[in-house]
Amino acid sequence: MSLGKLVSLIGGLWTAALTAALLLTEQAGLGNILPTGSVATTFIVICGGAIATLLAYLLIGAMIDHDLSRLRRLIESHRTGEPVGGVPSSFYLRGLGQSIEQVLNSQQQRIESLTGQRRELEIQTRISEAERQHAEAIFQSISDAVLVTDAFNEVALANEAASQVLQFDLEEARHQPVERLLRDPALVKLIRDTRESSNPNNRRHVEHPINTDSRQQVFDVTLACVTNPQSEVAGVVTILHDITREKQVSQMKSSFVSSVSHELRTPLSSIKAYVEMLVDGEAPDEPTRQEFYSIIQSEANRLSRLIDNILNISRIESGIVKVQREETSLPSVIRDVIDVMAPQARAKQIELSYTETPLFYHVYADRDMIYQATLNLVSNAIKYTPSGGRVCVEAVVDDHRHTVTVSVSDTGVGIPPEALPHLFEKFYRVSEHKKIAKGTGLGLNLVKHIVETVHGGEVSVTSEEGRGSTFRFSLPLSHETP
Ligand code: ADP
Repeated sequence: MSLGKLVSLIGGLWTAALTAALLLTEQAGLGNILPTGSVATTFIVICGGAIATLLAYLLIGAMIDHDLSRLRRLIESHRTGEPVGGVPSSFYLRGLGQSIEQVLNSQQQRIESLTGQRRELEIQTRISEAERQHAEAIFQSISDAVLVTDAFNEVALANEAASQVLQFDLEEARHQPVERLLRDPALVKLIRDTRESSNPNNRRHVEHPINTDSRQQVFDVTLACVTNPQSEVAGVVTILHDITREKQVSQMKSSFVSSVSHELRTPLSSIKAYVEMLVDGEAPDEPTRQEFYSIIQSEANRLSRLIDNILNISRIESGIVKVQREETSLPSVIRDVIDVMAPQARAKQIELSYTETPLFYHVYADRDMIYQATLNLVSNAIKYTPSGGRVCVEAVVDDHRHTVTVSVSDTGVGIPPEALPHLFEKFYRVSEHKKIAKGTGLGLNLVKHIVETVHGGEVSVTSEEGRGSTFRFSLPLSHETP
């Protein structure tokens, strides 16, 4: 039974009880004391009704209070998530409670689904952040310089290599206009032109020199348009690939080809000319013929030396050279070189000497190769020393390091300091020396390969321009007691 019905019942019962009490009073002869008839009855009924109404009012108020507090707890429970039993049960608030509960339940479901979505989004955000960091790490580790500009010609992205090559501060680069960031107006123009071309498929390759840290580097610059979802040009990606080395190598190769062909052509034309003279009978007597033969022989030797050098270097570089190591007496190799070079030295009035060490030692080496390396150094010393100079060969044993160092010193033209680091590079020749003697720039490179690549030794040079040079090579001593 609901509380409302209970209150109505109590009110009805109370009225009936009062009416019955009145009738009993009348019958008991108390009618003269109390008011009689229908007036009294009405009075009593009204009093009973009023009391019942008051009671009903109080009870309904209590019920509503009770239901409101249930409602509050219901709402609170939805807020805190703690379960609470039932909705308001009174006639007045049950419907409202049920509606509120429905609303709260649907809101609860919405909150749960939004919480799920939020978690999903958080996971997605973390994945995206990890991917972004991954992409950033890859982007930063690219050795080519990469610069991305937006539709306003401002820097959107740049990597470490770009900041080094184009000399800007990576931290401050973002959103900077390229013309303010880059000190290279030609590159700025290239980027602007590419963006303004408004052709999304526009991709250009330009060879572009950049001066960095007092040296010039050459870059293959790729410029490509970045498009937005509407396929409009929204920026430019600029990639700078350093091709300085390739350029140098190709320049070296072409200068090698021209210098080799020149070197090959010179002895060949000389041989051809002397052979033709012999065939045409232009050498009437034996001494002239002998002279021609010896010129032909020396030119043929020169040719074969050049070809040998080229072949030897390429064999060592490709690792197919056959090394015949044996216990070798270095002093005997040096003496052989001195004997071969002595006529040339004499012809130039150069004093050629060899200072032997009193120690007896051997190296475990390919005799022919070491002979070739020593010959190249002594022949260079004579070549780049003017008449009247001195060339001295010396071998010093270092017991501690267990090595022997051969040095070839001359009182020649010397080498400019800036040329020293390049001296052992293939095809390198000091430009000032080209007038002094012919060469291919292969001799020292072969020495380096023979000593360092094949024998695990070391080569070095010290020189003073105008005063002379000293080339040294060290080899490990043989472990065998001679
Ligand atoms: P090349 O055939 O030109 O002599 P090398 O490789 O033997 O080739 O030498 C490379 C360059 O090093 C030479 O062109 C020369 O300029 C320089 N050079 C080598 N030896 C000497 C030396 N003793 N004195 C001065 N310059 C030297």
